[in-house]
Amino acid sequence: MTLHAETPARTRLATYNKNHCPQCGEWLLAPDWSEYFNERCVRHTWSCQACGYEFETAVFFAPREEIAA
Ligand SMILES: [Zn+2]
Repeated sequence: MTLHAETPARTRLATYNKNHCPQCGEWLLAPDWSEYFNERCVRHTWSCQACGYEFETAVFFAPREEIAA
């Protein structure tokens, strides 16, 4: 068993597997817009249909060569 002391870089709004409106909690199906900075970083722009709140999330992919299907 190996322990890794990882210190993930913080971004303004980084969420993982959380696609809920931060304002009203409504579940969001898909981002309105996805902007690819590079192959490991994607920024999603969301808008809540329930309350109209708009926000962004940044997703960072692990450097893997295999992509789980
Ligand atoms: Zn909302």
